[in-house]
Amino acid sequence: MEYKKNTIYSLTIIDADMDGNGVGKLDGFPIFVKDTVIGDVAEVKLIKVKKNYGYGRLIRLIQPSANRVEPYCDVARQCGGCQLSFYSYPEQLRFKENKVKNHLERIGKVTDYLLRPIIGMEDPFHYRNKAQFPVGRNKEGKLVTGFYAGRTHSIIEHKDCMIGCRENKAILEVILKFMEAYQIEPYQEETHTGLVRHILIRKGYYTKEIMVCVIINGKRLPYAEELAERLKIFERITSIMVNCNQEKTNVILGKELITVWGKDFITDFIGGICFQISPLSFFQVNPIQTEQLYKKALEYAKLSGKEIVWDLYCGIGTISLFLAQKAKKVYGVEIVERAVENAKENAKRNQIENVEFFTGKAEEVFPAWYRKYQERADVVVVDPPRKGCEEGLLLTIAEMKPERIVYVSCDSATLARDVGILDGLGYRLVEATPVDMFPQTVSVETVVMLSHKNPTV
Ligand code: SAH
Repeated sequence: MEYKKNTIYSLTIIDADMDGNGVGKLDGFPIFVKDTVIGDVAEVKLIKVKKNYGYGRLIRLIQPSANRVEPYCDVARQCGGCQLSFYSYPEQLRFKENKVKNHLERIGKVTDYLLRPIIGMEDPFHYRNKAQFPVGRNKEGKLVTGFYAGRTHSIIEHKDCMIGCRENKAILEVILKFMEAYQIEPYQEETHTGLVRHILIRKGYYTKEIMVCVIINGKRLPYAEELAERLKIFERITSIMVNCNQEKTNVILGKELITVWGKDFITDFIGGICFQISPLSFFQVNPIQTEQLYKKALEYAKLSGKEIVWDLYCGIGTISLFLAQKAKKVYGVEIVERAVENAKENAKRNQIENVEFFTGKAEEVFPAWYRKYQERADVVVVDPPRKGCEEGLLLTIAEMKPERIVYVSCDSATLARDVGILDGLGYRLVEATPVDMFPQTVSVETVVMLSHKNPTV
């Protein structure tokens, strides 16, 4: 039977793909449908038909699945940022656990390992310590902040994101009122005119300090002191800044920063270690789960105080400093120079002296260092970006023959690929723990431990 585009069919959702889309079948022909949950019976309009599968849009639920919940957010479908907001939280966790299991077993081809239950959150909302809201005018010309409607740059008004901090809404309202009072125009991408592009808000989880940073297409925000006066009603705001970005770009932040009021950073802690966070610093966005993740990484590293550890892709040195408390020496490698400077400052601030940081590509710095000094590591930790590790790096690690490798990953597919490669190089996957760093979304963080199949005693 032939299925036609723009025709409406009724469909039972029997599966979900890795991106959280429901999958139903029309006589065996798979149809992927966004915003549906396993168990839904739905009217679906076919929007694209390929040779072996198609895509449909949810038109109406005929019979909602027992696993479906009403999203906590009324713009969940339009925004698309929280792909799993239609799933109950236990179902979200089950989805992610399965995703990791499937990847490890299908791509990595591993079977004999322990998969620990995913570490979920007690309260899976309002966990993000950072938010960036675009500012613009909506279709009616009203000054708004919110999010870009799926794949476009038109803004849908929304100030109260379910995964962001509770303070965001009130802060955004003050800034919009200020812009209206002083006739400060929002930035318009098409014409590269107007001033205010984005508003960045960061909050320290333990310290509760808040930073507000207004990103402008210019060198100066007029009446900035007046804005500071208005924002000072929020006692917890300790830093008000302006960031200048006059480029025609999708990149949100520019390089130049102006401090309008207060400090030019906020402070926060991970596992008792203190970090200073500037608008430009990379800092994990879910502080509660970051601590869980690092604790697991530390447990997998099994440190006694005598070990030499490498932390590859170390960012601002968060994992390195966490591990240094239990190791003899930790070496960190990171490609972004500014992050390495932050890592060094963080070490100093916390009086941690048994760490050393290098700037460069992990796949270059680490092999070069090993060739030069021939010093073995006992444990190697890697935390690469989504694309995973370069094969050459894995080869050097295997050559160095550490007892254990701890792999922290934000993409279980590339993790599984690399676990498969390491298996061929003499490392067995012992244990894996998924961590829910990004509730409501399809992303899942995983930490695994591999150990050498024939350790040198
Ligand atoms: N471990 C840190 C950061 C992890 S994010 C934390 O938990 O906070 C991954 C980091 O890898 C980023 O900081 C990115 O800048 C860095 N990176 C990307 N490619 C790299 C490469 N080839 N070599 C070294 N670092 C790299």
